[in-house]
Amino acid sequence: MANPTHLSLRKAIIAACLKMNELGINQGTSGNISARIEGGFLITPSGIPYEKMKPEQIVEMDLGGGYFGDYLPSSEWRMHYDIYLNKPEAGAVVHTHSIYCTALASLQERIPAFHYMIGVAGGTNIRCADYATFGTQELSGNMLKALQGRSACLLANHGMICFAKDLDKTLWLAGEVETLAQQYWIARQVGKPNILNKREMNNVLARFKSYGKQTKDLPKGEAMAVEPPPRRDNPKSATNGTSAKRGAKKPAGKAKRQPAKRAARTAKSRQEPAA
Ligand SMILES: [Zn+2]
Repeated sequence: MANPTHLSLRKAIIAACLKMNELGINQGTSGNISARIEGGFLITPSGIPYEKMKPEQIVEMDLGGGYFGDYLPSSEWRMHYDIYLNKPEAGAVVHTHSIYCTALASLQERIPAFHYMIGVAGGTNIRCADYATFGTQELSGNMLKALQGRSACLLANHGMICFAKDLDKTLWLAGEVETLAQQYWIARQVGKPNILNKREMNNVLARFKSYGKQTKDLPKGEAMAVEPPPRRDNPKSATNGTSAKRGAKKPAGKAKRQPAKRAARTAKSRQEPAA
């Protein structure tokens, strides 16, 4: 393939593979990454070390399950394929045999809500898909079951897989899930972790809709789930270059500004008695 299509996306996939190694969430060439294109997806080839991988070796597949070019796709292409077919929101997929996810998967255990961040995968736990031989349709089917309402799952006696809207987000999610698996594993060494109840996790999941977003990125009409601190400067004057010094502006909010002495007295009267 002299001039492969989607050259920048091919390069981004290789960069994501190298980043996966940097993050320490990949073992050898066992991990594989893909990204959606119109009518199909691009996926890492089978058995080529990331350091030596060239953009033209990234394999294009269509949504009929066929591939183009001289290189075979990853032996795990079915799982990627089934995610793109069944999860329209998936823009990229990462599959790894990361240490702690794989260790937990060997116990065929799900990761429960021992930490609220479990919600990053979309639910109140991260399930473990039933075991099936690698590369089979049976494994892919088990994976889809475990991914119901989720964007990540463990794969029994195998590893983990996750997806998100793009390569960056998916790689981030893979790192988060591995961290959660490690934290859970460590907690289990010394006791029985407390599990957050369903009510609290539903509260967390509602808040996650705006998690990590700036005010400008929120959908219209949606409020921040966690109330931000009051903004002190005036955004209008900041944009026209007449930004005032910090603290010189009238504070936001309805409260009238109190003279310094009165404010100090009020603050003092509000103090808790010394313990
Ligand atoms: Zn695998």
